[in-house]
Amino acid sequence: MRVLLVGSGGREHALATCLARSPQLTALYAAPGNPGIASVGTLVDIKADDVPALITFAKAKKIDLIVPGPEAPLVVGLADACAEAGIPCAGPSQAAAALEGSKAFTKEVADAAGIPTARWERFEDEDAAIAFVRLRGAPIVVKADGLAGGKGVVVAQSIPEAEDAIRRLGMPLVIEECLVGSEVSLFAFCSGEKAVLIGAARDHKRLGDGDTGPNTGGMGAISPPPDFDADAQEKALDISVRPMLAEMVRRGTPFRGVIFAGLMLTDQGPKLIEYNVRFGDPEAQALLIRLDSDLLPILAALARGELDNASATFTNDASISLVLAAKGYPDAPKAGGRITGIDRAEAVPGVSVFHAGTKLTNNVLVAAGGRVLTVCAKAQTPEEARHRAYEGAKAIQWEDKIFRNDIGK
Ligand code: ATP
Repeated sequence: MRVLLVGSGGREHALATCLARSPQLTALYAAPGNPGIASVGTLVDIKADDVPALITFAKAKKIDLIVPGPEAPLVVGLADACAEAGIPCAGPSQAAAALEGSKAFTKEVADAAGIPTARWERFEDEDAAIAFVRLRGAPIVVKADGLAGGKGVVVAQSIPEAEDAIRRLGMPLVIEECLVGSEVSLFAFCSGEKAVLIGAARDHKRLGDGDTGPNTGGMGAISPPPDFDADAQEKALDISVRPMLAEMVRRGTPFRGVIFAGLMLTDQGPKLIEYNVRFGDPEAQALLIRLDSDLLPILAALARGELDNASATFTNDASISLVLAAKGYPDAPKAGGRITGIDRAEAVPGVSVFHAGTKLTNNVLVAAGGRVLTVCAKAQTPEEARHRAYEGAKAIQWEDKIFRNDIGK
């Protein structure tokens, strides 16, 4: 099978590594990819969201399957363009990708499907929103109704803080009941009404140890979360994902791809916070290093709507992904630092290193982004996985390297 992978992060490098192991793979291209992916596939200089160029390339190279990593190409209709061109795509249509793009849409679908979630209301008028939070009281959650890169959500601890958020975020808004519990991310391969469990992870969004500092794209993840075992994950799929899939089919916009359900484990069971329509980064890396099955036939079946007989098996290991970022991330990451020691890191048992913001300059590997590498490890216990990942991180040298010291602690 000839595959075009779309994206350039650590998530895509982990996907590429799994795809490259498949006996069914005959060619792997990545647009635009990164230096890590270049060791298992051919890089193509096309931006991840340049849908027309991706389709032209896929037709020219007789691609059998497109695997999108990030949400950006899906939100602008990559899967729809693939359908038109007759190329199977392992990601959702633009209509189904609205599950990630619009918070109000997700809440409507959840309500229609009977999925437990925070009570909510949508506002287009600032005065009405302010009157509502005064009536409901704090804590309360204020969300911009669109993609805001994690910056559009305020969990307000007081009414003035909520009012402030309403004025700052502008309209339209979603205002929600504040859920209490521990947060987990649940992943599944989906096609039509069928969902196959991938696993669960817990991510660490803040830059600094102890969940301090600014929000980031994610500084690390552990899998599985200790308070969310395989049984609980299957139950949560029944509660939070399968009814959504049925509702999407009923609406004539079936979901196809990897679903990422953000859940709060509350006293009353799991409640949905959000959906994303793709793997998380760095959750994907922690999940995929434990994948025992061949990823390619699963993604191909999903893309063709034939997931019924597919299953995915994972090792029973615990795993962890640790992001090495560049000093100054997330605001102004320092580029250009020379990176060495990846081979030494990968010599630690159970460790894999995935590239994200790297590039080759005159054959020298240098930092070229905010999140530069992901060091992942698996082991029989979470403690050992953590120990291995930090050993790996230590072996990698570059002067601007920063990372959290408490992932999985
Ligand atoms: P991200 O980009 O980080 O995924 P997002 O902008 O898509 O975020 P959400 O995932 O809906 O927004 O919310 C971000 C975070 O805010 C959640 O991970 C959670 O910690 C918190 N949060 C959101 N909704 C609630 C809620 N109803 N109760 C408590 N916390 C919430």
